[in-house]
Amino acid sequence: MEILRTENLSKIYESGQEKVEALKDVSISIKKGEFVAVVGPSGSGKSTLLHLLGGLDRPTEGRVFVDGVDIYTMKEEKLAIFRRRQVGFIFQFYNLVPVLTAEENITLPLMLDGKKVDKSYFDEVINLLGLKDRKNHFPSQLSGGQQQRTSIGRAIIYKPAVVLADEPTGNLDSKTSKEVIDLLRLSVARYQQTLIMITHEMSIAEQADRIIRIEDGRVVKNEVVR
Ligand code: ADP
Ligand code: ADP
Repeated sequence: MEILRTENLSKIYESGQEKVEALKDVSISIKKGEFVAVVGPSGSGKSTLLHLLGGLDRPTEGRVFVDGVDIYTMKEEKLAIFRRRQVGFIFQFYNLVPVLTAEENITLPLMLDGKKVDKSYFDEVINLLGLKDRKNHFPSQLSGGQQQRTSIGRAIIYKPAVVLADEPTGNLDSKTSKEVIDLLRLSVARYQQTLIMITHEMSIAEQADRIIRIEDGRVVKNEVVR
């Protein structure tokens, strides 16, 4: 079953006289539950694609369908709700809120929607993350790996259909990196989520079901590898 589709997606950044064609005519289809690795040189358009898939930016041309919904037909307010409920984002530098504890960071998407967090569900998530004894710590009191696990928690707490990760291990040593990837795969498998991850590490890309390679804004390879 298809969960994500792009049709002729293009993105041009314009600043003053300068015009950057970051993404050119990208049409892809991704199935529910797939683990997709996005690879390619620096500056090739990977982050731009990820942002467009998650409703973080608007395309210059083309469409993005998430679970059948043409997301950029939504006005900003509805798109913000979509981002919170339907996609989870994980960034290289975690993007945690420094004044909130690990628990508060994880439950933030629910709080923003005025929802109470079911205690047994939170316990399930915090145990999965291995952060039970760290939930009252602030980001500055956590190691890089713990901060990234916290951000995984924030990304999955709403059980979004799609989890988008932009070099989630780019700032971690190789041992911690492996732990974070293992956790991420376990989490998305538990909640049947689709995982799309930008990575420079071949050892991570090799674990994916599909590898999409981007060069100069175009998809030059899109291969199901398992
Ligand atoms: P990657 O993630 O593969 O490194 P990006 O998607 O970040 O590539 O960038 C693709 C191209 O778009 C690059 O040339 C980059 O400089 C440019 N770019 C990215 N974001 C912006 C922006 N907000 N404004 C202008 N140019 C941008
Ligand atoms: P599914 O998508 O598999 O139907 P459910 O929405 O039924 O999942 O939730 C399964 C579990 O997750 C339940 O234990 C439920 O209490 C918990 N849960 C789901 N959403 C929330 C939420 N917003 N706040 C707290 N607990 C939640």
